[in-house]
Parts: sequence; structure tokens; C-alpha cells
Amino acid sequence: MAVTPRTPLIAGNWKMNLDHLQAVAFVQKLHWTLKDAKHEDGSVEVAVFPPFTDLRTVQTLLDADKIPFALGAQDISTHDSGAYTGEVSGAFLAKLDNRYVIIGHSERREYHHEGDEIVAAKVQAALKHGLVPVICVGESADDLEKFGASAVPVGQLKAALEGVKADADIVVAYEPVWAIGSGQAATPEQAQDVCAKLRDVIAEKLGEDAAARTRVLYGGSVKAANIASFMREPDVDGALVGGASLVVDEFAAIIRYQK
Ligand code: PGA
Repeated sequence: MAVTPRTPLIAGNWKMNLDHLQAVAFVQKLHWTLKDAKHEDGSVEVAVFPPFTDLRTVQTLLDADKIPFALGAQDISTHDSGAYTGEVSGAFLAKLDNRYVIIGHSERREYHHEGDEIVAAKVQAALKHGLVPVICVGESADDLEKFGASAVPVGQLKAALEGVKADADIVVAYEPVWAIGSGQAATPEQAQDVCAKLRDVIAEKLGEDAAARTRVLYGGSVKAANIASFMREPDVDGALVGGASLVVDEFAAIIRYQK
């Protein structure tokens, strides 16, 4: 599917859920549920981000059954190959037809101590191998109280875009940490405000063209009942969905949102 500039992107971050057998059943059921939905005509792009061990199986299924979902990984090594036990290189991900890779998710920042420097290095690794980094930024509840909503994500994005070229294909996801998995989503107005500021950062670092073309997603307790309210905001171009992306009917309803 040709992705036109700012085609809405609905991305399902499975995190450490669904083994490769469950993944097959899930993807087949989702595809069947979505028959005739708008992603089939390219007006919405759907992407799934399974665990590493599922990627080959899901790629084979998407390919064999001509299922128009994009594939993405949840992490990437900063190295291309070599003595890095447990790491997975961008070269391997690209060979499996991954289009995307999530970088800087708050769970990796928190549990794996990934700071701005490693996030920027992973962005470079993704771009080097032709993968589109989905750069996640967002403030914790503490940050929100101390600095307001936008200061931390704006700073994280500036750092992640260090050295990125103006024509790079990237996606940005604003995910307030307090909204992830909490059932307490940001309001559409809050999401719009920060997403607009992130777009300003893209303009400042990569230029106006890049800012106009780059998709900025909202993530954090997105579900079928609130997706339309986010998608009505002019600077929200899609959603990064965690928990609700693991339930076929719920994820399908998110993809079928009507503004
Ligand atoms: P959630 O997770 O939808 O379960 O809040 C979003 C994410 O972590 O990407």
C-alpha cells in the first residue's frame, strides 16, 4: 500500500503479548473482521508490532494472504551485527519486511534505562537500514506536575532528532507516561496541544516540509470509545495502541473510527 503524506496510522504495540501461534490466529481474525474496512483502500494504515519471536511468522502470513498491515518491531540494536548477545539488528528487521520500529517507548526508558542518547542512536540505526522509527516521547505524572505537559516530550524529541536529515521518514508518538495502561487517556485538547508543539520541533529541526509530512500519533489508553475524539484534532495523525490492540473487536473498531 502506498502511504501518502499524513495517511492516518493506527499502530498496535503488542508489547510482550501473543506468542507466534497466537499471533497467527489474531492477525487472521483481525483481517477477516476488517474486510471492506477503510484500511483496504489505503485511507488508514494499520501496523502491528509483535514480539521479535513472532515477526517471521507474521511476515509470512501477511505476505501469503496479501493482508495489508504494515509490520514493525518493538526495539532495535544500535549495532549492525557482532558480539552483542540478545540484540537484534536493523539489518535483520529490514530483511523481514519490517517497515517500522518503536524507539524510546517509556517502558524501555524506564526498565532498560534508555536515555536520550541511546534513543538518538537507535533512530540513526533504524534510518540506516531503511526502517521508519516510531519515536516515542512523553512526560511522567511527576514531570507533568513540575514542568507541565510539553517540556519533557519536546526535549526528548529534540534529542532524538539530533543528526536526522530533513528528508528522513519518521513517525512521532506522544505518549504521556501517566496515560499508558492506566485507563486515563489525555483529553483530545491536551493531546492536540503537545502534538502541535512536537510538530513545531520537527519544523525547527528538519524544516517545514518535514513537519507537514510527518505523522504525529497520540498513545495512552486509546480505545474504540475515544479514538474519534483524538482523530478530530488537526495535529493528531493516528494512535499508538497498547492494551486495546490485543482485542480483535476493539482494535478493529479503533481502525474503523469515524471522525
Ligand atoms: P495503552 O499503551 O494503549 O495500553 O495505554 C500504549 C502504549 O504503551 O503504546
